[in-house]
Amino acid sequence: MLSYEDKRDALVARYRAAKNQIRLGKDTSNLFRDRSNTAHIALDVRSFDNVLDVNTSQNFVEVEGMSPYAGLVDATLAHDRMPCVVPQLRSITIGGAISGVGIESSSFKFGLVHESILEMDVLTGNGDIATCTPNNEHRDLFFGMPNSYGTLGYVLKLKAEITPVKPFVRLEHVRHTETGTFFDYMDRSFEEDIDFLDGVMFAPGEFYATRGVFTDDAPYNSDYTRQHIYYKSIREKEVDYLTAHDYIWRWDTDWFWCSKNVGAQNRLLRPLFGRKRLNSVFYTKIMRWNAKWGVTRRINRLRGIHTESVIQDIDIPIERAREFYTFFDEEIGIRPVWICPIGAYQKRNDYPLYPMDHARRYINFGFWDVVSGQQTRPEGFYNRKVEEKVVELGGIKSLYSDAYYPRDQFWRLYNQDAYRELKTRYDPNGRLKDLYDKCVLKQ
Ligand SMILES: Cc1cc2nc3c(=O)[nH]c(=O)nc-3n(C[C@H](O)[C@H](O)[C@H](O)COP(=O)(O)OP(=O)(O)OC[C@H]3O[C@@H](n4cnc5c(N)ncnc54)[C@H](O)[C@@H]3O)c2cc1C
Repeated sequence: MLSYEDKRDALVARYRAAKNQIRLGKDTSNLFRDRSNTAHIALDVRSFDNVLDVNTSQNFVEVEGMSPYAGLVDATLAHDRMPCVVPQLRSITIGGAISGVGIESSSFKFGLVHESILEMDVLTGNGDIATCTPNNEHRDLFFGMPNSYGTLGYVLKLKAEITPVKPFVRLEHVRHTETGTFFDYMDRSFEEDIDFLDGVMFAPGEFYATRGVFTDDAPYNSDYTRQHIYYKSIREKEVDYLTAHDYIWRWDTDWFWCSKNVGAQNRLLRPLFGRKRLNSVFYTKIMRWNAKWGVTRRINRLRGIHTESVIQDIDIPIERAREFYTFFDEEIGIRPVWICPIGAYQKRNDYPLYPMDHARRYINFGFWDVVSGQQTRPEGFYNRKVEEKVVELGGIKSLYSDAYYPRDQFWRLYNQDAYRELKTRYDPNGRLKDLYDKCVLKQ
């Protein structure tokens, strides 16, 4: 096996020799916007997927940037540790989660994925390797990488904090019927001695907050990797136990609840999928195949139905969360909605491309479905409504999916001045794409 240094040097040489614009060459992706087919060279980075060191005395892991969380979690659990924040889908890579913003139920304590990163080696747009930390001469790049989506450079290796785990997680699902009491409960939970916090809003009047606590022992372990489905259990059980491993991947088996779109929740079909196919990687392949061949699109056209995908994660200050949900259920109507509270881990406002106020708490709303109707709407009609509401309430939207912001509004929200300075220093010749062109224009 080649060392990291050998692979890095070979990659730098390939990057410098390539004339066209560059794209990452990887087998998986969790981006949810279609890309145009402009001329590009795919930079094969698949070999950068190794965990190099799990350091339990100083609680950090050294890992290559294209390592999927699946392998990273296995490597750290073997030492009774886990990365501070593990996004829910197994194939998300740690470099993707930094440059695309990652979140999970430990985010109320540890913030977004990038807040527990200690150091990064970045192949920058100008073909250099910059090792960046919060305090060295590349600190601008260290803080600029989150939400840069591969437009400043690619993380090839990094150090990330890890945190101790116990073998089991005890879950408590608490039902609320009012949005006010639900978000108050979430707010109060920040002060509790718990390890995980998230929730599901199934429909008005039916909201569940789930607190998770590590335990050494469990009276039983539930298994949601085969016939039983995790999100359904939230409505059925007040208390539940999972192994730490199964807790971390509880949402992956059914892609939260989106596996229903491929028939995986059908009692008769589910056994045919088998354990190997009940996961986000398999569903993503089906969805991409469907998008490529336009199967659902054609059927809907024949039925006279107009559809719009509304697949988004947005962060709203907790005191405005109630207002957002009322708007969302009335005007968009996707159900259920995943709820994930976010607190600041680093207590600093230093990440210029994903500006959040460290003095505030936020609620992430995740919704991933299609809005359909008989009426023809302009492209992005519902997504624009969401974007406008997020701006009005002082929130911010992740860019992994479709975005429709006009250019000037986008740059007001995502800090044009800071981005231009970073681009000038790290990608002066525009070898990598521009953030707006990539995330909004899908270039
Ligand atoms: C349905 C759905 C639900 C989601 N839910 C969650 C969620 O609950 N929690 C969460 O945290 N995230 C969630 N995501 C978002 C996901 O974390 C981001 O899209 C993330 O960027 C995907 O990482 P990836 O490794 O698959 O990267 P890719 O999809 O391959 O790439 C994403 C972007 O990051 C860039 N990139 C990838 N690797 C690197 C690197 N090493 N260095 C620099 N840039 C890089 C690419 O150029 C690209 O622009 C969700 C996405 C979808 C589609």
